[in-house]
Amino acid sequence: AEMVRLDGITKAYGETVALHPTDLSIREGEFVTLLGPSGSGKTTLLNLIAGSTAPSAGEIWLKGRDVTQVPANRRELGMVFQNYALFPHMTVAQNVAFPLTLRRRPRAEIRREVMRALELVHLPHVAKRKPRELSGGQQQRIAIARSLVYNPSLILMDEPLGALDRKLREALQFEIKKLHEELRMTVLYVTHDQEEALTMSNRICLMNEGRMEQVAPPQEMYFRP
Ligand code: ADP
Ligand code: ADP
Repeated sequence: AEMVRLDGITKAYGETVALHPTDLSIREGEFVTLLGPSGSGKTTLLNLIAGSTAPSAGEIWLKGRDVTQVPANRRELGMVFQNYALFPHMTVAQNVAFPLTLRRRPRAEIRREVMRALELVHLPHVAKRKPRELSGGQQQRIAIARSLVYNPSLILMDEPLGALDRKLREALQFEIKKLHEELRMTVLYVTHDQEEALTMSNRICLMNEGRMEQVAPPQEMYFRP
């Protein structure tokens, strides 16, 4: 089944065209990466799907529904950013619980789902700690746990490993890939790292100056030397 469909979307900020007319269809369970240099329109595309900004033209469909017609809390999106974006005054458990608290889920369900999400990222033992007591890699695992906790249909990840050193990046690439396979999640992943895109994706969208120049599986991509 189709998870996301972009039909001729464009985005301009005043005179700046961040995204030229773009079409894309993402299947349920697919891992799709937007690869491109800084300023190529990757984050703009993610923000459009997240509904945090409106397209200048075109349509965006999420599970067959027009995103502009779906209220923010019903969009079933998980999001992970480069800078973790954990709430510093909350414990790890409260951070992970937050999307469920927002949705007013029952206490017992929250406790169960928080533990399940923390186990998925191998950090059940840090539930009571504060984010600042954790390493960068642990904080990003917690941000991933928070994005998974309510089983969203689609997970958007914007350079999630960009702040980590090479060794940690490789470890987390492996973990994210494993989660994708085990949970059959649909992921739209942003990176400017070609190796990372090649390792992780089912399909890569190569972006440049607001256009998708190639959309293909890793083995079929052509990169200029
Ligand atoms: P990337 O994520 O690939 O680095 P962006 O989507 O952030 O690219 O940016 C694409 C283009 O849109 C850039 O030229 C950027 O300067 C511009 N842009 C992005 N967001 C805004 C904004 N809020 N206001 C004005 N211009 C923006
Ligand atoms: P509070 O004092 O607000 O309960 P906690 O940090 O203890 O703060 O818990 C926040 C949420 O996470 C609560 O809904 C709680 O049920 C859940 N929670 C707390 N600790 C754990 C844990 N070790 N494993 C799973 N869930 C937990």
